[in-house]
Amino acid sequence: MSFVVAIDGPAGTGKGTITGLISKEMGLVNIDTGATYRCVALQAIRNNIKLEEKQKIISLLDKITIDIKNNKGKETQTILLNGEDVTKEIRSKEVTKIVSQVSSIVEVRLKMVEVQRNLAKGKDVIMEGRDITTYVFPNADVKIYLDADENERAKRRYLENQEKGINMSFEEVLENIRIRDENDKNKEIGSLKIAEDAVYIDTTNLTIEQVKQKVRNIIENSKLKSNI
Ligand code: C5P
Repeated sequence: MSFVVAIDGPAGTGKGTITGLISKEMGLVNIDTGATYRCVALQAIRNNIKLEEKQKIISLLDKITIDIKNNKGKETQTILLNGEDVTKEIRSKEVTKIVSQVSSIVEVRLKMVEVQRNLAKGKDVIMEGRDITTYVFPNADVKIYLDADENERAKRRYLENQEKGINMSFEEVLENIRIRDENDKNKEIGSLKIAEDAVYIDTTNLTIEQVKQKVRNIIENSKLKSNI
């Protein structure tokens, strides 16, 4: 039996950072589900396919393999698209701009959910995204929703981009976050919402260490309970 920790929330709430740290500390396999949608978006860009050309995007799905490798002893992951390391490229401004719309296509979602469930099969995992607690693993052992004020999220993402050498102004980041939030909350399937049984954490005024500790406590308590 595998153990599943599911974490959802909008962009910039620290989901990626927190899951990376906890995966390393607690030995859980980290699956960044946003990365799978980013791979499809990248492949569309590489094939000069426009967002309006839905059928062409759908036809890419059969020619894509996605793998996520956890880097040993580190909190980072390597994302492989058809065997190629695209970890950095999928974070580009171009991909970020279209990924939410690409992920709204029902066929894309159905395929990526299959990919995500396969990546998790038989493993103890920590998975983050938008619909993990509600759609991908509605029976997850631990369900958490991370949130934060919009401006704080944009500030975090802006600083993170700067560290990664991604050139976007604060206004551009904020605008992108607003558009993605709106789109993510209104998807036909797998829309972003708070699961009834998820623990809600507002991270606006918390440090990464504080959020990590809260999430760790929830996981540890759940493990204790399931052992009783
Ligand atoms: O988490 P990240 O920002 O990398 O996700 C990229 C995009 O993929 C999100 O804006 C969202 O539209 C989509 N996504 C999704 N469902 C998930 C994870 C991400 O629709 N489980």
